[in-house]
Amino acid sequence: MMDNLMETKPVTENLIEVKNLVKYYPVKGGIFRRKIAEVKAVDDVSFSIRKGETLGLVGESGCGKTTVGHTLLGLIPHTSGQVNYEGVDLFNLRGEEKKLMRLNLQIVFQDPYSSLDPRLPIGESIAEGLHIHNIGSKQDRFEMVLKVLKNVGMEDYHARRYPHEFSGGQRQRIGIARALVMNPKFIVLDEPVSALDVSIQAQVLNILRDLQRDFNLTYLFVAHNLAVVEHISDRVAVMYLGKIVELSDRDVLFSQPLHPYTRALMSAIPIPNPRLKRERVILQGDVPSPLNPPSGCRFHPRCPYAKEICSQKEPELREIKPKHIAACHFLEDFL
Ligand code: SF4
Repeated sequence: MMDNLMETKPVTENLIEVKNLVKYYPVKGGIFRRKIAEVKAVDDVSFSIRKGETLGLVGESGCGKTTVGHTLLGLIPHTSGQVNYEGVDLFNLRGEEKKLMRLNLQIVFQDPYSSLDPRLPIGESIAEGLHIHNIGSKQDRFEMVLKVLKNVGMEDYHARRYPHEFSGGQRQRIGIARALVMNPKFIVLDEPVSALDVSIQAQVLNILRDLQRDFNLTYLFVAHNLAVVEHISDRVAVMYLGKIVELSDRDVLFSQPLHPYTRALMSAIPIPNPRLKRERVILQGDVPSPLNPPSGCRFHPRCPYAKEICSQKEPELREIKPKHIAACHFLEDFL
């Protein structure tokens, strides 16, 4: 079922450009509740996403990938940096312009149940965004809801049912329908299948793939599961402790990961053929706190290849091969 997700799609110019995005959370203390430190959740992250493309954003829990998705959409305020949508600086929009622009950019959360009102039939929850933005008459909205329910493989009668009457997979379809009904161009998919059984994951991924093809959607697919990201992404960015450490085409990244962190993540993916074995890289220790990230290369306390320079000098992201960038002082050693 997942095989057809591997089809490559023609991609054109950039829809989204993220430039030097920073999100720090202040830590306050003392009697006057002054800022005493900062949690560096996202620290100078840049990437672009082409129209019709899926960019996978992966990393361990706490690496900042979800914060990137939420900050990009303006759901939480940014500290600095810029996000362009078709060349328009999203962070500079105000009032009506901002409201209208937001229609183009939607999000699907990991747990759609928490964002559904248990007292409302799901048809009304799906129509909520249309209602808020005063789009269409009541009858128009009802018809739009029925249409998106069909798009996500559900039936008309589901519109009258309540959230507790649905399975996890159906609730995620409802979450996708809520985003889709706004007729977006770009969707942040925030761990959309992480809470689902593997068989249901494939169904939801197939729906996302079909919707992307039918509506020319562009996705930022945030996930910690590399196997899922491999199936749906055109390109993949790997994050570690608030920074992108490697970014390239999906096939290149999965066949020849270069950054030691990516190599360690990849080594943990099970291979379906029992006769094939992959050398497993076990990382020592936990991800350090973003409150006080390590000096130099942030990965150095856990990196099996770390040398003296790694704790002193931060490696820059650089293009090591065409369209393949990574941040490590010793990338040439891994070619
Ligand atoms: Fe490891 Fe050093 Fe490369 Fe960082 S710069 S990934 S510590 S070898």
